[in-house]
Amino acid sequence: MYVKELFVDNFRNLEKQRIEFCEGINIFYGLNAQGKSNLLESIRLLSMGRSFRGSKSTELVRFGENYFYVKAIICQENNDKKIEFGYKKDGNKVIKVNSNKIKSISELLGQLLTVIFSPEDLNIIKEGPSHRRKYLDSCISIIEKNYLYNLMQYNKILMNRNKLLKNIKEGKSKNILEIFDDQLVEYGAKIIMVRQNYLKNLEINIKKFLLEISNEKAEIVYLNSVGLKDASDEETVKKRLKEKLSKNIDLDLKYLTTQVGPHREDFKIIINGYDSRVYSSQGQQRTAALCLKLSEFEILKKATNEKPVLLLDDVMSELDENRKKYVLEKLKGFQTFITHTTKRDLKGDCYFKISNGVVIKE
Ligand code: ATP
Ligand code: MG
Repeated sequence: MYVKELFVDNFRNLEKQRIEFCEGINIFYGLNAQGKSNLLESIRLLSMGRSFRGSKSTELVRFGENYFYVKAIICQENNDKKIEFGYKKDGNKVIKVNSNKIKSISELLGQLLTVIFSPEDLNIIKEGPSHRRKYLDSCISIIEKNYLYNLMQYNKILMNRNKLLKNIKEGKSKNILEIFDDQLVEYGAKIIMVRQNYLKNLEINIKKFLLEISNEKAEIVYLNSVGLKDASDEETVKKRLKEKLSKNIDLDLKYLTTQVGPHREDFKIIINGYDSRVYSSQGQQRTAALCLKLSEFEILKKATNEKPVLLLDDVMSELDENRKKYVLEKLKGFQTFITHTTKRDLKGDCYFKISNGVVIKE
């Protein structure tokens, strides 16, 4: 698939305009703070339903205005598809696919497949477990239809269980805790099974990329909440999770939060035998992040049998010549959007100059 055209109105600093793209490599160049990342953000918004920079919808509205609207025409197997995202500051958000309002984000996911590469990818390697969980969940949500639903159900039950813990501490009966635990285990086990599968797949890919790029050995270790090395059987996972919950009840009541479960999980990326988060150099971490993203792209491509659109925000300047060549080679044949401060050292199929929110095709 590829993005044929984009229309933006009151989105960040971008002027109201319609932009036509080409099917290959689209280069957006301009000085700092002109609107390059904002443009990629608007495309990614239509793909995921949220900002890749973690911004709230209200922050995407152009200063001094009270709404924004973004629309893209996507070409998929010679058919055009229209995706629209509108937001009004009174809190009203409308997302439409081919003019039909969608009821939940899971209906949007998969409509426009994108993979974004940005300097913030480094945080997936460097930061705490919640960053990796969030990343993992968003990758899986696109390819496993029920995953987001199961995750939302799990979080709802978890919230209620935590409320119940407070009530128990205040003297209420423990009786219904078992019901919550059973529900938590039901959804929790499904989440664990899918995460395990995805991470296995991720490991196969990251191993290959890291070996090719820097001749290093990569492994991924899933730190699941059930303490199983290979969580391959859902019934066993359920049993173990239930046992863990019962075992930890005193701690749960002490801290008034549930101490074990998918909401506390993590995964380690091990390079040449050492945890990359703790022991890798900045350069090694950057390469690991790049390989992680290439793996995400590979998995998405295979799972959907589609050609995702690639968004490369400011990553070219951070790569050395060999890595740059390697990445561009891997992304050949896919529609790619690249932001850069100059057009000089990049070969594209079409070029756009961005200055002060105005995008001009050359
Ligand atoms: P760099 O090369 O530094 O990454 P960029 O071209 O990617 O620059 P953007 O991140 O796209 O720059 O931001 C461009 C400008 O948009 C910034 O000056 C920023 O202050 C402005 N901006 C951000 N949010 C809004 C908003 N809601 N309304 C208007 N302008 C905004
Ligand atoms: Mg930028």
